[in-house]
Amino acid sequence: MPIILDLRQNFSQPLTAEYAIDSKMLTSVENSLLKGGNLTATITARLASKGLALTIQTSGKGIVECDRCLEDMEVDIDTCNDLTVLSADRYEDADDVIYVEQDRKELDLWPFIYDFIALAIPLTHSHTEGQCNPDMEARLSQYMVTRQEDSEEPED
Ligand SMILES: [Zn+2]
Repeated sequence: MPIILDLRQNFSQPLTAEYAIDSKMLTSVENSLLKGGNLTATITARLASKGLALTIQTSGKGIVECDRCLEDMEVDIDTCNDLTVLSADRYEDADDVIYVEQDRKELDLWPFIYDFIALAIPLTHSHTEGQCNPDMEARLSQYMVTRQEDSEEPED
């Protein structure tokens, strides 16, 4: 399910559009880090001195796997990113630029927005203390105890 920006619009006035991002979209991405969620992307497009300047604000809840108990957990996503859409004949080495052929009519922003969401997920994420799956928590604590015993210095 793409998020299409129609490049034929008149951008002399900034245009803003909102898109809902649901679990189906988030899980349809290959190797998605997200198991679901419910987010809103607000895209503002305006003509800039160089190409079309996009500001993409994405916020909502994402569902990811807890690092400790592997059960689903919610993470808050709130990220704001800039992108510039430039005609391919104006290529220059720059970050955050999408190059399009001059006669391109529309652009799918979903792959970019998915990346912004994925980058906004904290590198490590787990339930707050005591909120993990109790069975897994019990197994984990047993594992930790065993590990500690294993690493004890042998006594002569
Ligand atoms: Zn957990």
